[in-house]
Amino acid sequence: MTAMDENMTAAREAMVREVEQRMVDMVPWVGRSVLSPRVIAALRDVPRHLFVPPEHLSEAYLNRPAAIGYQQTISQPFIVALMTDLLDLDPDDKVLEVGTGSGYQTAILSRLVAQVFTIELCAPLAARSGRLLQQLGFSNIVARTGDGYLGWPEDAPFDAIIVTAAPPEIPEPLIAQLAPGGRLIVPVGGISQQLILVEKKRDQSIVLREIIPVCFVPLTRQDTA
Ligand code: SAH
Repeated sequence: MTAMDENMTAAREAMVREVEQRMVDMVPWVGRSVLSPRVIAALRDVPRHLFVPPEHLSEAYLNRPAAIGYQQTISQPFIVALMTDLLDLDPDDKVLEVGTGSGYQTAILSRLVAQVFTIELCAPLAARSGRLLQQLGFSNIVARTGDGYLGWPEDAPFDAIIVTAAPPEIPEPLIAQLAPGGRLIVPVGGISQQLILVEKKRDQSIVLREIIPVCFVPLTRQDTA
């Protein structure tokens, strides 16, 4: 390992500890105080510094979002960890992600499940993250450019769906594309947003749970983008 790699590994380890501590602080809201060991392992494995733009390299392992261009951001590590954890992913799951952005959350998911489908509206961001994920050898990802509000009907249903931009309401197509027993995590709202966990029970009934207030970029629609 080069000195740079060693620094990055140490910084990443400190980030993981900070994320774990933040999870403990969140018990009253989230109801769980520890992240699954598989989520922790994925945070340890994925080199977040390669997903932030070079000008933000020094912040790559801080528990903060960072600008990735096109008015978009790479999400805060704690939020990535929390959303991933709340999906209760199994290794054989098929997952849909709306809002590929930098590809960091995609990479985390790729470590945890069999197959990841990811949609990004902004074509240059889709091209950049697609290239990076391929270079890094994440091979169980299918990526497309388009409006993720509509989901990915051809490959539905999904065991889990994660939305990383905020729509004004829970997108109906995404609920429809959730498998029975599946989970959808989505930030909903405008200036004020709530992270919402949607569970589709085996009998197809829907249960919603508000988790915490969050601050995501808005989910834009194809015709307005
Ligand atoms: N998970 C990403 C988050 C990026 S920010 C990361 O951590 O890097 C949210 C992303 O959602 C942006 O890249 C934005 O372009 C994208 N987005 C916004 N509206 C969208 C839509 N309707 N369909 C797909 N992607 C969308």
